[in-house]
Amino acid sequence: MKAKYSVVVPVYNEQEAIPIFYEAICPVMDKLNEPYEIVFVNDGSKDNTLKVLEELADKNKNVKVVSFSRNFGQQAAIFCGFEYATGEAVVSIDVDLQDPVEVIPLMIEKWKEGFDIVHGKRLKRKGETFFKKITSKIYLKFLEMISGLKIPKDVGEFKLFDRKVIDTLKNMPEHERYLRGLTAWVGFKQTQVEFVRNERSAGVTKYSIKKLLKLAGKSIISMSTWPLTLSLKVGVLGCFASLVAFLTFVILACCGIVLPLTAWLFPFIALSVSCLLISNGISNVYLKKNFEESLNRPRFIVDKVINFLNE
Ligand code: UDP
Ligand code: MG
Repeated sequence: MKAKYSVVVPVYNEQEAIPIFYEAICPVMDKLNEPYEIVFVNDGSKDNTLKVLEELADKNKNVKVVSFSRNFGQQAAIFCGFEYATGEAVVSIDVDLQDPVEVIPLMIEKWKEGFDIVHGKRLKRKGETFFKKITSKIYLKFLEMISGLKIPKDVGEFKLFDRKVIDTLKNMPEHERYLRGLTAWVGFKQTQVEFVRNERSAGVTKYSIKKLLKLAGKSIISMSTWPLTLSLKVGVLGCFASLVAFLTFVILACCGIVLPLTAWLFPFIALSVSCLLISNGISNVYLKKNFEESLNRPRFIVDKVINFLNE
């Protein structure tokens, strides 16, 4: 039977957290009185995660498991879960109960009201260091600035998606997919429900600083071409600044203040460097075009059609 609701859960070395999550989510989903499935995606765990999942799947047919050949990362695991999920509404959630499962019915209510994407918005983030909170804020602000997208504040991967959004996300042809960025990119009717983020139920974070930096770098490159055009902008600015400096020197000379020869060299060196940056920037503009084409993203996404035959 096709599920009405799917819960997609990426897991990496979570043998302790999975049983706690399972005990918490089942009563919440049972209470909805509609068919549901929990799709666990085992992201190449090295501990007993797969065994724990197999045992759960054995005793409960609502539990479905997809297992990776190695660790591909949380983003890949979530998108894989979307491929396998059959629900009309699909929730993505971490396994560590930092995102409270009790919020899912509230998200479903919003979905029933007609929203296509419901973000879980964190009011408080317990158990996270000040460093993590501040760096993630700065990073998201930067990503928003360079991508030109409106990325909702204080939301993570805990979200509900309508089937049509899942199908849209599934059809994104690019390899490197970043959920927060693409959710902002696809549009549709979006809203938020608020919650207080808990501490982890068990185990430790699976994100080392190195892994976080890698994710930040990848998401910036897949959501923005701003770094590519930076040299063009700096070059044009440099040209302008060296011209202003040159003219200032000329005016000063006319007023009788003659600067030493080394000072006169400055605008010329700056001008040459700026010209190099501009030529590099022009190449990058073409590279940018190529990059955008290679992403092969749809040029638009139609939400609804009315009075057409295949409506
Ligand atoms: N996760 C994953 N693959 C990874 C890292 C994490 O599937 O390479 C899963 C992890 O098991 C958890 C979710 O992604 O369900 C979020 O990870 P975590 O709680 O460690 O991140 P944090 O909350 O510390 O940012
Ligand atoms: Mg966590």
